Formats: sequence, C-alpha cells, structure tokens
Amino acid sequence: MAEKILEIRSLTTGFLTDKGLVKATDRISLDIEKGKTLCIVGESGSGKSVTALSVMRLIDYAGGIIEDGKVLFNGQDLVSKRQNEMLKIRGNKITMIFQDPMSALNPVFTVGEQIAESLRIHKNLPEKEAWRQAVDMLRKVGIPSPEIRAKQYPYEMSGGMCQRVVIAMALACNPELLIADEPTTALDVTVQAQILDLLQQLKQEFKMSMLLITHDMGVAAEVADRIAVMYAGALVEEGTVAEIFDRPRHPYTIGLLSSIPGLEGERGGELYTIKGSIPPLSNVPSGCRFHPRCPYAMDVCKTNEPPLRESATGHKAACWLDDVGEDDPRPGKPNRAETKVTIGSRPEVTQP
Ligand code: SF4
Repeated sequence: MAEKILEIRSLTTGFLTDKGLVKATDRISLDIEKGKTLCIVGESGSGKSVTALSVMRLIDYAGGIIEDGKVLFNGQDLVSKRQNEMLKIRGNKITMIFQDPMSALNPVFTVGEQIAESLRIHKNLPEKEAWRQAVDMLRKVGIPSPEIRAKQYPYEMSGGMCQRVVIAMALACNPELLIADEPTTALDVTVQAQILDLLQQLKQEFKMSMLLITHDMGVAAEVADRIAVMYAGALVEEGTVAEIFDRPRHPYTIGLLSSIPGLEGERGGELYTIKGSIPPLSNVPSGCRFHPRCPYAMDVCKTNEPPLRESATGHKAACWLDDVGEDDPRPGKPNRAETKVTIGSRPEVTQP
C-alpha cells in the first residue's frame, strides 16, 4: 500500500460565535499519498481553506478552533502539537502559498532577502550561503536575471513574477508537503497556465506531495491525482480524476462539472449554473446539506444525512441516490455497479 504523508481524520474545525460553535469543516477525512497531488474543490464557503489552515495550525491565529479529529503528518498528530513545535514544521516541512502573492510578500524587504531569511531561520544557513541559495531558487522558478531580481522589491515585479517568488520562498527549505490555496486565481489566464506548469515541474524535482485548493475544475483536472469535493463544510465526494470526471456520483459534483464552460454542448449556449447558493455555515440545512439545491432531492434527503460510502476502487460519495437502483435519475452512469449500498449501513462492496 502506498505510503501516506497526510491523513486527516474526522476533522471538525469551527469558529466560536455568540450562537455557539459554527462548524466550517464537519468530520472531514482525507489522505495524501507521498508524491501525489490532492485537489480540494468546491464553491467559496465550502470549507476548503479552513481545511488547509487547520493542517498548518494557522486556524488558531484566524480565530478558529479544531474541535475534534486528527491531522497525521508522517504519522505525527499536528493537532496535539504546541505552536512552538509547529514552528519547526511550518515553513520547513509543510509550506503554503496563497491566492494573492502581493499580500504574501513583505513590501519593505527585497525578494532575495525574504527567501534568504526563511533559509537562515529553518536551515540555520550563514548569511552568504542563504543569499546564494535564494538566488538559485529564483533561477529554479524561472525568474530571469535572478542575481539582479533578488535585489528588487515586490512592487517592482508583475503579479506572475511575485507568485514565482512566493513559490521560491515556499520551496526554499525543500518541504515534503506544499499546500497551495488558489495559487492562480489572482493571475491572468496565460500566467495561470505557466504557474501550474511550474508547480507540476517543481513537484517532480523536489519530490513533494501537494494539497491544491481550487474552485476551478479545469485546474484540478490538470494537476490532481485525486479530487475531493467539499460542500458547506462536508466532504461529499472523493476519487481519482477519472472517477470524478467520468463517473461523478454526487449531484453537486455533476453540477460543478456541468458548469465548466465549453463542455457538453454549452459552447455558444447558456452556461449551466447550480441554482441557489451555498448556505451560511451557521445555518446548514438538515439531512443532506445540498438538498435545497439538488435537482434530484427526495424526501429522505431532507431529514437524513447520507453517509460517505466507498466503492471497491476507493471512490467515495455521500448521496442517497446510490440506493435507488434503476430509477436513478443522474445523467450518465454513476458507478452504481461498483458499490452495493444499504441505507444507514456500511456498503457491501463489489469489484466493478
Ligand atoms: S442525498 Fe439527495 S439531496 Fe443530497 S445530493 Fe443526493 S439526491 Fe441530492
């Protein structure tokens, strides 16, 4: 069995409000194998970024609390670590890049200094060696004339260049896991493709694993090994790229795929949208939390939460439609044959 670098187990993270704890992730369980990329997709407010911040334990600084669950990194539970212990892991073994490169960089230090500082702190390198490696990292991320660029400030660079600097900073200490939260969203389309290619190339070179957060299914298709779909704080589907794109089981995933421009005859026509909007986390619907927006909702969906059930191939989904047999209204052929399920129990799994 492939070795896992990250195992998230039943992670519940929330924010304390005057109405009590508002759960931003509800019993999320996810794995990342060494050297692989997991993409978490979903609309804004689905809990993707909170999951990433919980792994980094940065949620503590964002006013959130991890109420329950474990985050095992190479078998060590990060949830039970103190913040001073996390300082040795964060920025060193696990690093993170954010959506907006300009806000991730300090405007009053040169970019070379910012990368070198990370190397001095985490690798204990002397000043000259840290600077040499910082320039080398800028070269690796494709910055032209890195010796000159290292002495420049963030405002002297384009958005794409700044994101390359942020990637250089994140990879300088050779992390085992890179978390990228919407790393291309703030960039022009042409630059987005370059940054995705760069991340893919560096992932191979540095032999890292990656957790990529995106709302863009096209990005997920390009870089992921597995895709996890989140909705309103819950994991609703998870599988390989082929399973998610060719045999989606959850109607929310089907909706996300149908919303990609240019697919399924939408070219030139009206773009498909999922009706309604994601509920506030303080008021998540009963039963299946997607039921008010689901075109196939049944009575059972309004009252009973569907369990996440797994096929023989590891494709998981939480939808009562897996139980309805021949009357299944979902388009295409979800892999019903792979999973024999019984309401309220673990599935009896058969090979497809
Ligand atoms: S459980 Fe019901 S409401 Fe939820 S996605 Fe499936 S069919 Fe739709």
